[in-house]
Amino acid sequence: PAMLNNLQQQPADALLALIKLHNSDPRADKIDLGVGVYRTGDGETPVFGAIKAAEKKLVETQDSKAYLGPEGDMGFVEALMPYVFGQANPTQDGRIEGMQTPGGTGSLRLAIAMAKRAGVTRLIVGKPSWPNHNQICADLGLEVFEFGHANADGKTDMDAVRGAIAQAQPGDAILLHGCCHNPTGIDYSNAEWDEIAGLIADKGILPIIDLAYQGLGNGMEEDAYGLRRVIASVPEAIVCYSCDKNFGLYRDRVGALYVLAAEKDGLPKIMSNAHALARANWSQPPDHGGAAVRLILEDEALTKQWLAELDDMRDRMRLMREKLAAAGKTGGVDLTPIGGQNGLFSIIPFTPEQVQAMRDKHGVYFAGSGRINVAGLTEGNIEKFIAAVADVTA
Ligand code: PMP
Repeated sequence: PAMLNNLQQQPADALLALIKLHNSDPRADKIDLGVGVYRTGDGETPVFGAIKAAEKKLVETQDSKAYLGPEGDMGFVEALMPYVFGQANPTQDGRIEGMQTPGGTGSLRLAIAMAKRAGVTRLIVGKPSWPNHNQICADLGLEVFEFGHANADGKTDMDAVRGAIAQAQPGDAILLHGCCHNPTGIDYSNAEWDEIAGLIADKGILPIIDLAYQGLGNGMEEDAYGLRRVIASVPEAIVCYSCDKNFGLYRDRVGALYVLAAEKDGLPKIMSNAHALARANWSQPPDHGGAAVRLILEDEALTKQWLAELDDMRDRMRLMREKLAAAGKTGGVDLTPIGGQNGLFSIIPFTPEQVQAMRDKHGVYFAGSGRINVAGLTEGNIEKFIAAVADVTA
């Protein structure tokens, strides 16, 4: 019997379909705001200069490709910790340990699987969120409880956050975007993080913090505020980190999982579960990108170069956001809130018909949700984009 024939057709990835649509559009002035990668003012997604230099060094100095173990390159994992948890006490007195994972996705997969092993039955997630959060929970058989992440005015819906935490039960974990929320760009203010950290601590639910864009919002330190605030307030937490955006490593799949344990002595037991899950999933993470990041962080000059490249990315996105915000009320939508949002993404409340008109009439491509990648905008196309928004929403 043909077993595999029993499988049901799965829907195509909407963003990949969008790439095809964009590629087949012959118009020279078409605009791609779909795929979630950074682009320069020339529309490129180049390899960081610091990564190129580190890769060269890696090729010259790496003398073995023998297995490292399920935890991957611990030099990489530890070199990143002061950036994530702060220079002052990166291990929180020995209560934090990490391991390398295949991207932020691998880290989330491990985190949620480990939470499930520990007895977590439900994940509280803001809506909308990055779709893979729900997909991983569905695949692992974990229930998802959704709360409204943002109001129509482009600001956080704190009442929904408070309500979601208030109704939490034993066995719940909560997933929070550390910065540069995908897809809304709407981040918690520092005051909101202070409150959220306190509510989570009072309620005793396990926080899982997804930090996939550190440095793309307001700066490496600024973007870690919420995470550090939560870490300082709770006994236990999991951090899922991605280097795929802030080092431009996307396809090389570089991430890390960090665990904050209630007590230092509890870490070996917890990490043995993380390692066992890694072995059952991918055995060991890919080495190359993590090793390149390590070589950057071990070298003062390369670190400076990397941070300068990251500054340029952030400044360019900020400039595009300011230009959109300056357009203010445009047709039937208000672009002002985009100026105060962070990272690659924001959502413009287009109707499905308006999304289609942006494509058909103006050659502007972005997800059906109205999520735009602001890094797809440039000095050369932003005026056209704003005019198109005015046209289709009028
Ligand atoms: N979390 C969020 C919120 C994301 O947007 C992404 C990437 N799109 C990831 C995690 C995972 O990133 P990666 O697996 O590519 O490192």
